[in-house]
Amino acid sequence: MPQRHLIAANWKMNGLAAALPVAEAIAEIARSHASDVAIFPPATLLPLMHRVLEGTPVRLGGQDCHYMDGGAYTGDISAAQLRDAGASLVILGHSERRHGHLEPCELVARKVGAALRADLIPIVCIGETLDQRKAGKTVDVLTKQLRDSLPDDLDGREFHVSYEPVWAIGTGMIASDAQIVEAIGLIRTWLSERFPGANPNILYGGSVKPSNAAHVLKLSGVGGALVGGASLTVEEFAPIIAAGD
Ligand code: PEP
Repeated sequence: MPQRHLIAANWKMNGLAAALPVAEAIAEIARSHASDVAIFPPATLLPLMHRVLEGTPVRLGGQDCHYMDGGAYTGDISAAQLRDAGASLVILGHSERRHGHLEPCELVARKVGAALRADLIPIVCIGETLDQRKAGKTVDVLTKQLRDSLPDDLDGREFHVSYEPVWAIGTGMIASDAQIVEAIGLIRTWLSERFPGANPNILYGGSVKPSNAAHVLKLSGVGGALVGGASLTVEEFAPIIAAGD
């Protein structure tokens, strides 16, 4: 059976309660398309959105979680709290966490462990910066991020990986077909050696838009898209969901 695409909407720090109708409209659209669809709203919207999306095909996820299960961590959110609020997935290691919050791979790996303990499905993001690509270090960077961000606990568990070149996120610059296929192939090979029984979706993220989504999703090995800016409106996100068919 060919793998269904996973089309993920990363709303980042965007969205107030007034955005709930957007989630409802996305759910309506998802009903008539083949891809799996998930929304990663700000944590404040999870319980409200959970109510709106219950019984629809759209799943909910958190954008990050703490590596501990609970305790004195002011301002943080645990994986169990995300689960309790209605999430079944969580994005970890997004470049806006790795670079904006200086999160090293080892911390990402601990967060993956916390997510699994709470029965959340992690989507682990990896990707090189423009300087690293220009210096010919892309393969080394991706391999290191895979090795150090994916803990042994993933063995036998459902998880996904998103290839997100940092220079393509929110910039309007999309990686070339060859760059995407090469990176996704590397990830697939590495995962099949490290976690032989696993069948993760390998997503591409970085300026996916209605105009390029169908093309990207048809590239060899691409198992879905992690979409930031273009996931915020139904007008832009609906054609991306349709492109996954
Ligand atoms: C992202 O948030 O992971 C992302 C890829 O953003 P954008 O689609 O805006 O580039």
